[in-house]
Amino acid sequence: MYHRISDTSIEPNWLAVSPKNFAAHVQYLKQTFNPMRLTDLVESIKDGSLPDRSVAITFDDGYSDNLTHALPVLESFAVPATIFVTTTYVDSNREPWWDEMKHFLLAPRCVPAQLSIQVADGDYSWPTVTLEDRLAAHQELENLMRPLPVPVNDAILDHLATWAGSHRKLRPAYRTVTMPQLTQLAEHPLIELGAHTLTHPILPTLTPEDQFNEIVGSRYMLEKMIHQPVLSFAYPNGDFTEETRKLVNAAGFNTACTTINGRVEPGDDVFCLRRCAVNDWDIALFKKNLEAFFHDRS
Ligand SMILES: [Zn+2]
Repeated sequence: MYHRISDTSIEPNWLAVSPKNFAAHVQYLKQTFNPMRLTDLVESIKDGSLPDRSVAITFDDGYSDNLTHALPVLESFAVPATIFVTTTYVDSNREPWWDEMKHFLLAPRCVPAQLSIQVADGDYSWPTVTLEDRLAAHQELENLMRPLPVPVNDAILDHLATWAGSHRKLRPAYRTVTMPQLTQLAEHPLIELGAHTLTHPILPTLTPEDQFNEIVGSRYMLEKMIHQPVLSFAYPNGDFTEETRKLVNAAGFNTACTTINGRVEPGDDVFCLRRCAVNDWDIALFKKNLEAFFHDRS
């Protein structure tokens, strides 16, 4: 499980992997493992024919760098991948809220010594003098914002921008795919596009009706955009319940990826696929982690 392929300086969650490290990862996967399409992997899980050391590469969220930075690497090694797209971020003039939030709180700049903010009827205040202060505030605020609807988070970002003496501007390195980029990815033989909801909510916090709208709505929107069937889904933040799982199945998907750390095995539930979250590891650490991942039988 990857997210962004980019050289960036501030990533507390290490969700961005540098293009150099990514190229080394893919080369190693091609040489030592058996990279497959996610759809093929799912079929072989179902019929019990999963070859040893099979891997499927996935990207969550739908960043532009998946096309500009990841695809050239995938092409050079002829390795397929699935990209899970959050449909409201297609052609958006806004960065995903979590990237903007990081930018205002953590980018090096002079900010007030304290951040006071109202979030969902609660008043919060954090010291913001040191980077450690701001990292702690970032973590708490991210947890508070994650379940909130898009317009509420939008208002919080307006407040944060003013607090930071900055403004909300789309940085090219953080943009999500444009419509032409999405079309280019959809038409590429190595790429499969999957759905990742409309707005990236925490699905279990929504009513079943709203969950279903997010799930089936993202499938419908994406199919309309790319004129292809969309059969794979990834739970935003990996959050799901048995009810969510059933709704994804009912929405007509063939499979769903979680963020539960682990390998897939023949006979696994294909609506609860485990994944390995890859960080910006150099090749030595990538090899070490992958080997441990495949050898750990616990
Ligand atoms: Zn996501």
